[in-house]
Amino acid sequence: MIPIAKPIIEEEEKLAVQAVLESGMLSQGEKVEELEQQFIRLTGAKHAVAFCNGTQALHAAVHCLGIREGDEVITPPFTFISSANCILMEKAKVVFADVKAETFNIDPEEAEKAVTPKTRCIIAVDLYGQPYDYAAIREIAKKNRLLIIEDAAQAIGGYIDDVDENRKMMCGTLGDCSVFSMYATKNVMAGEGGMVTTDDARLAEQLKRVRHHGQDEKTRYEYYELGYNYRMTNVLAAIGVEQMKKLERFTKARRKNAAILTEGLAGIKGIRIPHQRESTFHVYHQYPIIVKGHRLSRDELKEELEKRGIETAIFYPKPLHMHPAFLRMGFQEGQFPVSEEISKSILCLPVHPLVSGKDIRHIVEAVRELSGHAMRTGR
Ligand SMILES: *Cc1c(COP(=O)(O)O)cnc(C)c1O
Repeated sequence: MIPIAKPIIEEEEKLAVQAVLESGMLSQGEKVEELEQQFIRLTGAKHAVAFCNGTQALHAAVHCLGIREGDEVITPPFTFISSANCILMEKAKVVFADVKAETFNIDPEEAEKAVTPKTRCIIAVDLYGQPYDYAAIREIAKKNRLLIIEDAAQAIGGYIDDVDENRKMMCGTLGDCSVFSMYATKNVMAGEGGMVTTDDARLAEQLKRVRHHGQDEKTRYEYYELGYNYRMTNVLAAIGVEQMKKLERFTKARRKNAAILTEGLAGIKGIRIPHQRESTFHVYHQYPIIVKGHRLSRDELKEELEKRGIETAIFYPKPLHMHPAFLRMGFQEGQFPVSEEISKSILCLPVHPLVSGKDIRHIVEAVRELSGHAMRTGR
């Protein structure tokens, strides 16, 4: 079976973990700092603060930006649950804004419509590895004096080409702060792990306190504010450090696989390949196709691919507003039609670096065959 995701664990990761175990310094320490420095170098952000996972990193970001009960935060309903739960953790109000059908990212027009006098922040998600529409969202944020948290959990290494300024705007710099995840299936993984990047020195300082029970990094047993234990361990950071060294190779492999899928699946009736905005560098955390008007239903296609040794996944089977926890808050089915439609027709194909050239051609041929397209020869 070609798996939909598989962590890449090589000799370097094993040796690095062993070295930490032998050092006896297992909790937050040098390896965590090294990982933070790598994120600073990669993104160009001035500060990076590691957390035990992306969800707690998001919570710390919301907390340290001062979002509290009564505040409203806008986020898309078509994303992973943490993008919304981090708002609820501070008892603030989740306000959903639908996504765009083409990019799966928050629709700036919908975001603007969702703004009220109580809105404090927009959490924009770089879904599947494609940077969100930063220029448009920033405009709205500026006009309405809103903060932006970039949920870049799926987009490490991604960027936007700023043609006017002739520079790359890296994921990790597309907000007042940005959040990454190093969960086992993410493009760079540590098993579990999170990171906040920001240019704001005071915010970074507070993030460090909040992850460490409200203590200063230097003066222990002096508690300045409400804190948590959100620290990352040296053991896991050691994995992350080795992975970061390989990011370029990983991203290249993902993009190459994506390019082969895109070429092989273009023009098939009932299959829509992912749209890549011209100015964005997509890192293909996932390769999402839309199955609609196909001879098979999405679920039938999924099943047939499985029979041919190809695991696929539905990210996400239901938009957030349709889950019990959100229906209870008064959200209703039908409120966010684009997200609902995507949930019914999305199918993610394997695209990660361990999908070989042979695998990827097998995926292309299988989808083509199941779509009634002649097998292609000579490739
Ligand atoms: C993975 C993910 C998170 C949460 O990260 P964890 O490290 O699993 O807590 C948040 N947002 C998005 C979009 C994600 O994909």
